[in-house]
Amino acid sequence: MRISVFLLVLSLYIVGCNNTPKSVSPLKINAGNDPHSFSNFNDAIIKKLNLNLKVDFENKILTGFAEYDIENKTGGDKIIFDTQNLNIEAVYIDGNTKTDYVLGKSDSIIGTPLVVNIKPATTKVKIIYKTRPDAAAIQWLEPSQTHDKQFPFMFTQSEAILARTWIPIQDSPGIKFTYTATVTCPTNLMALMSAENDTVYHADGVYHFNMPQPVSSYLMALAIGHVQYHGYNAISGVYAEPGLLNACANELTDMPAMINAAGELYGPYAWGKYDLLVLPPSFPFGGMENPRLTFATPTIIAGDKSLVALVAHELAHSWSGNLVTNATWNDFWLNEGFTVYFENRIMEKIYGKPYADMLAYLGYKDLEETMTDLLEHNPDDTKLFLHLENRNPDDGMSDIAYEKGRLFLKNIEAIVGREKFDAFLKNYFEENKFKSMTTEMFLNHVRNELFDGDTAAYSKINARAWVYENGLPKNYNAPQSAILFKVQQDADAFTKSGNTAVIDTAGYSTHNWLQLIRTFDAKLGIEKLAALDKAFHFTQSQNSEIQCVWYILAIKNNYDAANAQIENFLCNVGRRKFVRPLFAALLETENGRAFAAKIYDKARPTYHAVTRETIDEMMANAK
Ligand SMILES: [Zn+2]
Repeated sequence: MRISVFLLVLSLYIVGCNNTPKSVSPLKINAGNDPHSFSNFNDAIIKKLNLNLKVDFENKILTGFAEYDIENKTGGDKIIFDTQNLNIEAVYIDGNTKTDYVLGKSDSIIGTPLVVNIKPATTKVKIIYKTRPDAAAIQWLEPSQTHDKQFPFMFTQSEAILARTWIPIQDSPGIKFTYTATVTCPTNLMALMSAENDTVYHADGVYHFNMPQPVSSYLMALAIGHVQYHGYNAISGVYAEPGLLNACANELTDMPAMINAAGELYGPYAWGKYDLLVLPPSFPFGGMENPRLTFATPTIIAGDKSLVALVAHELAHSWSGNLVTNATWNDFWLNEGFTVYFENRIMEKIYGKPYADMLAYLGYKDLEETMTDLLEHNPDDTKLFLHLENRNPDDGMSDIAYEKGRLFLKNIEAIVGREKFDAFLKNYFEENKFKSMTTEMFLNHVRNELFDGDTAAYSKINARAWVYENGLPKNYNAPQSAILFKVQQDADAFTKSGNTAVIDTAGYSTHNWLQLIRTFDAKLGIEKLAALDKAFHFTQSQNSEIQCVWYILAIKNNYDAANAQIENFLCNVGRRKFVRPLFAALLETENGRAFAAKIYDKARPTYHAVTRETIDEMMANAK
């Protein structure tokens, strides 16, 4: 799909550097077909990146260059990169030839195009630049914000369109390139990237990286901190701060089994090693599937392996997302719906069907809630294929892409049978590896490969309704969970009696507890909350998932006994999944709004920009 807004003529102006052109005329930007990128990748495209950065913790900046091998497909005289909030200092082509460039008109969402003059035969473009201290992708942490509180830490989060805030790049998921990098950091810290990583410290603080397989820009990632490595075997292990490494290593022992299970399902793992880096708690997401090195929140370390489904999810992205990638952010469900489906299949293989069914059911419950909310406020966002032009692609990162996407795939599986669907998926990943995929391409693939082009048979999966219509189609198989049905019965009995003895908690994992708490609503009342708290110590829980749902219930019931812990939690955990619903619950009432404002004053500086942006907007709307 081509988006009209990017066909407009952008008026460009000269930036204040000596080496910029003496005269500039309005330039017609020959856009690609991604509404969230200025780049003209249909004309001139990046093929390989050589990144060289020095890390300055004191000033919170990265300084260096991005040198690209490019393909000038049409022999034109311009290549356009995406930038946002970068200081561009000089641009060279084909070695040492300084070239003219202009920074175009900025857009508040997608940033500023960097238009570089090239020659028809140009093969190399080198951009000298610096990041700024408030680069949205980068989080700089004081030692006090880390687990061990000894050394500073920094990490990047590029998805969806933040790579352009730390690298001038053609920032579209539809473009893939290989990369090498050299990163210089303080000698007491280790640098890691979404690439081949070392497991030991380099005395000179200089780290070299190689990513031989092509990746999209949103998978560019860098982390620097005082971390150590624990290897499980030759191809997998975990990095974490020394004080957290043991707990992480014990929690994630099933990683090698997961890699095997995933490979048995959908073909060999394509990236060499699969390691996981456990970050400090301000990381805004659960995990980020940076190739070879998943970044993960420490909130998954529950002590009983009950939250490791997140690792299955990020690992599954090694196929769906990293190998076969959504071509634009409008096709985001292709990344996430597939991954949630695949994640559940890995969990089923390792932990059994009842456990996997329980996880699927919980995801479905989340979907129901999101669906009700969106159908009321933003019904078009309940489609799988979205129209995010002129919007931040983060707006599309809801349960719709994840859980409605999974449900669609699960329903195809139910119609054609698992064996046939698995064979189709395995072949789909093999045929399309290291390529990008649009929603229409995928549906064509399903029609042709899974139904041999038989349109009548294909119509049984009701693809149009799932993908292009609001809500859920009339007939579909909703997930069921016998385990959680029993939990719900016990919860109902408690609501009637107020007696905690009616709840049989033998064998409970995190998910049973979550289901129990979620069954209760705003009418439960302070007395019954106090009884539950006395029996199960929810307010003092150290499990972030349980804390989050319990604190929401507490807020809805005005159970002030949890207030101190709510404040403490929000000031220490920056994962958006928890922070957003807690602030939403607080902002429902006048007292809550005052409490939320007080907490946010303290917590805001500790959050990543991704989380900050979400909460800023919620606070502004609540006024
Ligand atoms: Zn994901």
